[in-house]
Amino acid sequence: MPLKPGSTIGIVGGGQLGRMLAMAAARFGYKIAVLDPDSACPASQVANTTVVGPYDDEACLKRLASLSDVVTYEFENVAVEPLRQALGQTPLFPSAEALEVSQDRVVEKAFLNGIGVATAEWRAIDRADELGHALLDLGGDCILKTRRFGYDGKGQARISAETTFTDAFEAIGSVPAILEKKVPFSFEMSVVAARGRSGEIAAFDPAENVHSLGILKTSTVPGKVTPALAEAAGEIAATILAKLDYVGVIGVEFFVSRDGALLVNEIAPRVHNSGHWTEAACLASQFEQHVRAVAGLPLASPERHFDCVMENLIGDDVGRFAGLVAEPRSLLHLYGKAEARRGRKMGHVTRVTPRADRA
Ligand code: ADP
Ligand code: MG
Repeated sequence: MPLKPGSTIGIVGGGQLGRMLAMAAARFGYKIAVLDPDSACPASQVANTTVVGPYDDEACLKRLASLSDVVTYEFENVAVEPLRQALGQTPLFPSAEALEVSQDRVVEKAFLNGIGVATAEWRAIDRADELGHALLDLGGDCILKTRRFGYDGKGQARISAETTFTDAFEAIGSVPAILEKKVPFSFEMSVVAARGRSGEIAAFDPAENVHSLGILKTSTVPGKVTPALAEAAGEIAATILAKLDYVGVIGVEFFVSRDGALLVNEIAPRVHNSGHWTEAACLASQFEQHVRAVAGLPLASPERHFDCVMENLIGDDVGRFAGLVAEPRSLLHLYGKAEARRGRKMGHVTRVTPRADRA
């Protein structure tokens, strides 16, 4: 049964992704309840109700579930067990299983390789003294990452034969980790795709992504993504969605090797920063698509009407407001964050141009 207008969608997490989900949900007459430790978080400014408390607090999760007809999440570091306990009869989309796979880099890579999806070569690392052997095994430069809680390049260290292993392991907090072979990629790309409750799949066009200091800087569509790469990425995303019996939007990040092969870097069980351009270049944004999926509505067409470049506004970038808002062919989106700290995502702007392939 699709969710009726007037129903409430609960979101665990009240950041900018929750905010944009709430704004999309409002267009269908849905109400939004958000759980976040910060009462002034970006999503609370546009939500009907904010439950203020920690994400892993069972009482807070229970309160969210009791207010909601369906629950979703906007980040993957949600503690799964308290969430499962709290939900009762309230459905969760994407499922707790999708959350478990994507919140641990070792589980994620083992899952991907197990369904035939290629990734960088990797080894699980529990202690600093395992690094030397694993590095020899993988050969060449590597990246050490925490298994859990990493984002925007945090919790990562470069490793080569010259590295002092104990220092590197301490630098990431001496926690269970993964050692990944460094991929000499030609460029990075991602695909944002959705699967509905009845199993239908719709993928937006992939974006070419450029990161700066581990944080996404720009997503360009189509950028360097050829039609053949787009098709291959869409097929990989569809395989992942089907194997997870997934409901909602997923972000799949890829490395493209110099000979055009695709390796999956990571998956995000939620709307994704590299899909923000959809609000400017498609009839239905990734946020509407996620709302449609979790609400049991039919998916929207992912057709793209423009070429575009999405630029993240990080820290002081947001000071360019007057110039950005004056641009005639761009869509500006700010997240309502009071303080423009260094490295903090404050908003984004998407600049559109007519599709070159239809000129
Ligand atoms: P996060 O969860 O912080 O996004 P990622 O694993 O996606 O972590 O790493 C962030 C960025 O670091 C990637 O987008 C890529 O630019 C670079 N990176 C990560 N892993 C590798 C790798 N194995 N080889 C080359 N570059 C990598
Ligand atoms: Mg990433």
